[in-house]
Amino acid sequence: MHELSLAASVVEIALRHAAGRRVTRVELEVGALRQAVPSALAFSFEVVAHGTLAEGAILDIRAIPARGACRRCGAVSELHLFPLQCPSCGAFDLEIVAGEELLVASLELEERHDGEHDQDGGDGGHPGCQ
Ligand SMILES: [Zn+2]
Repeated sequence: MHELSLAASVVEIALRHAAGRRVTRVELEVGALRQAVPSALAFSFEVVAHGTLAEGAILDIRAIPARGACRRCGAVSELHLFPLQCPSCGAFDLEIVAGEELLVASLELEERHDGEHDQDGGDGGHPGCQ
């Protein structure tokens, strides 16, 4: 599954930036040319994040439209379909300027507070290290 490898990269990036803190939300920018199905990507993220500090994090996927600069006429256009073709002059000689992104745009991390909160929510979420 294509999305699984994308999700694995995302989790890896998130965990690296989190540096040991729990990840609560990941804002992801995915270019249209990645052809990732958002629901499949979200599912894959859940699978890959399971058992890591990113488990349960909200994945906020933002689709970035594909854009190409035409090498023949210079027009920069939003591209919708393969094959990628310049809508202005019909040339296929395009330089892709957007649409291949797979960017972790922002992360929300659980901050560690000095004062401990008296929470007896009993969510069973303790790491259980022994
Ligand atoms: Zn053109």
